[in-house]
Amino acid sequence: MKPLIVANWKMNPTTLEGAKLLFEAVKKEVKNIKKVEIVICPPFTFLSNIQYPISNIKLGAQDCFWEEKGAFTGEISPLMLKNLGCEYIIIGHSERRKLGETDEMINKKIKAVITAKLKPILCIGETEKERKLGKTFQMLKDQLKDDLKNLTSKTYNLKPLVIVYEPVWAIGTGNPCSSKEAKKVFLFLQKFFGKVPVLYGGSVNSENAASYIHEANFQGLLVGGASLNPKEFIKIIKSVAQS
Ligand code: PEP
Repeated sequence: MKPLIVANWKMNPTTLEGAKLLFEAVKKEVKNIKKVEIVICPPFTFLSNIQYPISNIKLGAQDCFWEEKGAFTGEISPLMLKNLGCEYIIIGHSERRKLGETDEMINKKIKAVITAKLKPILCIGETEKERKLGKTFQMLKDQLKDDLKNLTSKTYNLKPLVIVYEPVWAIGTGNPCSSKEAKKVFLFLQKFFGKVPVLYGGSVNSENAASYIHEANFQGLLVGGASLNPKEFIKIIKSVAQS
């Protein structure tokens, strides 16, 4: 599998013009890089404006609802996102969990994404407190158990599932988890989950990006803040593609 580099723009930028500029700046520099697969996840409102058929750049969303359609004011379904050209959907980001998203909701969303034949990018990770208490592995195990409840290969096609290890204390803090520490988690998740690709996320930048792939063996990265800076994001992509 090619390394997967996912850009999570979060709630940025505030204008369509800004979104187009950001996308075009990245596209221009990376469209011919074949060694990595890039997924851009802008806010919902920009999805239809940056939908281009580019072989190495895919479109993703940052969340979705679990029903296909109906009386669910304010929600967006996987099918709607699919119709806009999305291939991936981030589910269970810690910033959503912090706002009240539960493992039960995440479980329903994962099932809905797979049913719509899209690829869920499931985010899991421990808080600073859990890490300090030595509960990282237990926490990850619990999250996976609940988030993937009743998802067996007999009932769902689990091939499209991607897991991201995102230590909550490393997200948006400029304090990344070292590749050495992250590798222990990678090995734990591999043992637990075998063939499912596992990415790393949390304060990734152009200096540390390649280490997660080549030293810790992650199959990709989820990049937040640095994906809003085209120069930095392009450097991240190139550092992974070249090394
Ligand atoms: C994220 O948004 O999932 C993330 C990892 O953010 P950052 O790269 O800014 O830490």
